[in-house]
Amino acid sequence: QMEKRIIFATGNQNKMKEIHMILADLGMPIYSMKEAGIDIDIVEDGTTFEENAQIKAKAIAKYLPDDIILADDSGLEIDYLNKEPGIYSARYAGVDTSYDIKNRMLLDRLEGARFVCAIAAAFPDGTVETVRGTIEGMIGYEIAGEHGFGYDPIFYVPEYGCTTAEMDPVQKNELSHRGRALRAMRA
Ligand code: IMP
Repeated sequence: QMEKRIIFATGNQNKMKEIHMILADLGMPIYSMKEAGIDIDIVEDGTTFEENAQIKAKAIAKYLPDDIILADDSGLEIDYLNKEPGIYSARYAGVDTSYDIKNRMLLDRLEGARFVCAIAAAFPDGTVETVRGTIEGMIGYEIAGEHGFGYDPIFYVPEYGCTTAEMDPVQKNELSHRGRALRAMRA
């Protein structure tokens, strides 16, 4: 009987670091793909975070059928896109809606952003489970903070008055999309 272990289907060292912290009390060893001896490029051609997480988990599960494979697909969503309100400026939120409300809605949409993280787990019995975690925030007006990675320096969390790059790693993991998704998956 082999020791139960988890393989994380990512080559991203920043994600690996966070995953080790978030799942530290799981009592199962967690290895990166590379540590498990897998070095393949996975084509992420899904159309949702969940699909791409599953694609990664299943691709690795083929090579390691006895292990639990976890995969993370994540990203930043900014609501204000696509030249809105554009040709719909008058009709935006309805013709009878006041410009007080229209203006406020546009400001809210301009600022609204979230980090999304889908985690997929592929188990030795062939089942695949997927969970999603999110953190709501806004795009900051300047780059701030040295922690974290990626878009953390522009991801401002109003309740805390700072970006996720200004939070210490323990605090980020308590609130983050990845922390929430991984704790849901652990449960
Ligand atoms: P993936 O490796 O295909 O899942 O892409 C993840 C990308 O989303 C990262 O390279 C970052 O650009 C962004 N991202 C995901 N999670 C975070 C985070 O916690 N902080 C900052 N950027 C993130």
